[in-house]
Amino acid sequence: MKKHFPFIIVGGGIVGSTAAYYLTRSGYPVILFDKEVGQASRAAAGIICPWFSKRRNKKWYYLVSQGAEFYRQFIQDLTDDGFDASSLFKETGTLILRKNEKDLRRDLENADLKRKQSPSIGQLSTLSNEAIHNLFPLINSPWSASLIQGGGRVDGQSLVALLHKAIQTKGGKVVKKDVQLLKEGKSFLIKSDQTSFTADQVLLAAGPAVKDLLRPLGFDCNLRPQKGQLFSIYQQQWADNNWPVIMSPGGIDILPFDNGEIIIGASHEDDQANDLSINPMVIKELKIKAQQIFPDIFKYPLHRVKVGTRAFTDNGDVLIGPISTFSNLWTISGLGSSGLTSGPYLAYQWVNKMIKNSWEIPVEIISSYPLIHKI
Ligand SMILES: Cc1cc2nc3c(=O)[nH]c(=O)nc-3n(C[C@H](O)[C@H](O)[C@H](O)COP(=O)(O)OP(=O)(O)OC[C@H]3O[C@@H](n4cnc5c(N)ncnc54)[C@H](O)[C@@H]3O)c2cc1C
Repeated sequence: MKKHFPFIIVGGGIVGSTAAYYLTRSGYPVILFDKEVGQASRAAAGIICPWFSKRRNKKWYYLVSQGAEFYRQFIQDLTDDGFDASSLFKETGTLILRKNEKDLRRDLENADLKRKQSPSIGQLSTLSNEAIHNLFPLINSPWSASLIQGGGRVDGQSLVALLHKAIQTKGGKVVKKDVQLLKEGKSFLIKSDQTSFTADQVLLAAGPAVKDLLRPLGFDCNLRPQKGQLFSIYQQQWADNNWPVIMSPGGIDILPFDNGEIIIGASHEDDQANDLSINPMVIKELKIKAQQIFPDIFKYPLHRVKVGTRAFTDNGDVLIGPISTFSNLWTISGLGSSGLTSGPYLAYQWVNKMIKNSWEIPVEIISSYPLIHKI
């Protein structure tokens, strides 16, 4: 049996779900397939504060800074549609711990330079380690910090669940199934169980699995999986403290949520392929690193552990664009460690491209061709 849909999206993480949401919001029928395995969006920490990274990739910076601005509109759109997302994304402020004065000064200068393009940065101030402890009493940092007022965090798991609800309420379909791409003449089919689908437009937003999906069509792509593990601790008395997010120089991030849960992570494991098992040694290493700024960390029982797989390209570019000559088969993947920040923006832009034939992403960022090649 063959069915036809105007839009099919494969992958129901932040990218696929946001794209399906904006399509249904504009009245287009869409079916979203998601096998719900390894999803990075559900496992992510959720920091939305890209402006002061030391990374020098300009394409990356464009996408994450636009992504951080777009969150405000995104959450407002959901709220306007009757889906209360206000507690899922919060500007808590972000403390970036800095080991030296030079970095603190550079943050202040950068804030002035970048605020015009990125007004969401808000105010930036420098806090001593004593002031940090007063603001967030569980933290005893050996270093000072830059406090970025507009930095914040998002609950990726709840946001994806809310998007799935919104898609279905607006008439879209969310199907929790694995699909495959198959070749049919010069075109392709999407297959789930015994049913084959064709579509006017297909978006592959399947994280690192885009590589496996494309192989039967005769393409290989430059995508690799990276395992990420993080853990959380929980105390009821920590609820509603409005503590800021902490980013430390050792790569440990600490994210307090309103319900009293504090998420701490994350690992970056390049040699684990798509393994999703919890490794207690990795969790212990994360705790030891966190102890440097959170001295009592070992006193609290483990609340939960999350494991997900990030998708990376070798040069750090996001994979976005049509697949070779298939103008109706697009992919968005390779969002790396910052896809909760850039994902909604990329998905929204793709929807604009599909339904209005216009988007604001500069042409040099559309990089599917060098990253995907015929086998
Ligand atoms: C531990 C960790 C911490 C992170 N922290 C942050 C952070 O603080 N800030 C930030 O901005 N980003 C963070 N990230 C990165 C971010 O989570 C990812 O870049 C982003 O979520 C990727 O979204 P996506 O929609 O492209 O992919 P995913 O969320 O991985 O979704 C892809 C979906 O496709 C599905 N799928 C795959 N193959 C098929 C198939 N054949 N059929 C059907 N479905 C399929 C998968 O099951 C999955 O559900 C973190 C990631 C991890 C793992």
